[in-house]
Amino acid sequence: MSARKVSATKHPPIPVLRPLLPAAERLLPYLRAIDASRVYSNHGPLVTELARRLAAVLKQPEGSIVCAASGTAALTGAILAAAGRAKPSSALCIVPAFTFVATASAVEQCGYHPYLADVDSDSWMLDPRQLAADPKLDQVGLVVPVAPFGRAVPQEPWRAFRRATGIPVVIDGAASFEVIEARPGRFLGDIPVALSFHATKSFATGEGGAVVTTDCDVASRIMQALNFGFLSSRDSEVPSINGKMSEFHAAVGLAELDHWPAKRAALHAVIACYRRLLDAAGLVHRFVGWPDIASCYPLFRCLDPAEASRVQQSLDNDRVDFRLWYGSGVHRQSYFRELAHGDLAVTDRLGPCLLGLPSAPDLSEGAVARVVAALATVKADVAA
Ligand SMILES: *Cc1c(COP(=O)(O)O)cnc(C)c1O
Repeated sequence: MSARKVSATKHPPIPVLRPLLPAAERLLPYLRAIDASRVYSNHGPLVTELARRLAAVLKQPEGSIVCAASGTAALTGAILAAAGRAKPSSALCIVPAFTFVATASAVEQCGYHPYLADVDSDSWMLDPRQLAADPKLDQVGLVVPVAPFGRAVPQEPWRAFRRATGIPVVIDGAASFEVIEARPGRFLGDIPVALSFHATKSFATGEGGAVVTTDCDVASRIMQALNFGFLSSRDSEVPSINGKMSEFHAAVGLAELDHWPAKRAALHAVIACYRRLLDAAGLVHRFVGWPDIASCYPLFRCLDPAEASRVQQSLDNDRVDFRLWYGSGVHRQSYFRELAHGDLAVTDRLGPCLLGLPSAPDLSEGAVARVVAALATVKADVAA
């Protein structure tokens, strides 16, 4: 490997993701409302208002959004409502290997054995047409397609899959709020979509999440599954967890929503800055970002693992933090190593090569320039 300048270690580190949630002053009116209502959880006024306002933003009918304590809780509630706990004859759940571990955790907590499938090399998602021919399909009780890096999953091909196979589908839409907001008609419908409002996601409440579905019965069962199985009485009628969002997290969500257009614009400006500087460096074709995926994930695509390790070294040398957001796939995580899986060639190729770059609504142009300068050393390597 070529000699590198180490003088850059004077630079302060750039963290990979530095969330920026509403400041205390913007929370205060909502916190005072909590003081006045003395309702702290259990579908209080702030959670109700947040669900209503989110439905308006996503152009969905009232009652189509159920707030949850986290994205993982949202996914668990959606699975319990749409498919129920696993039955012995159909205990497999198809999950992409290329996802964050939360997808497999939620599926497993509902009693399913995750069966890891590979993703399509262009969309980075499960391909419903390919799965329809899977020999294990008669043992499958659920499919959970994932929105990779917030690239939203279209409803229609999965509706066709569900019609053809009779297998329930729940979408792990985790980071896809922004992409869905831009085209709700394509990405929302009766198939439940679980969203995460974790601090690292573009729209965030700290911890939190929601499920969106236009199927009112499913929405009401999700609410029940996230509240001990209670619906209109204190009788636990269905399998459940406590996955409710608290009024305090709803307060953050409402303040976040008040300021969302400005935060979204700031995130998009950072992505535009990446594109401009990468273009000047002749590397923009390697960039993946908004509007293709969520703006909290600027990604740099390396050609192969060897190049990825050179790029990582270069970023390290200049104290630029980066992240392989999905590691090398769920099958590489200790606990999930033994899971059944098909051929995972695409996941194995993508995992080590998609580098998550620094992101923050207030990331400066100077910081982006440092990231791009570190990335540009790849080109020098190629030329050498
Ligand atoms: C963030 C994320 C989740 C989990 O969300 P939490 O709110 O942290 O529980 C699930 N799946 C994917 C793909 C994610 O990116």
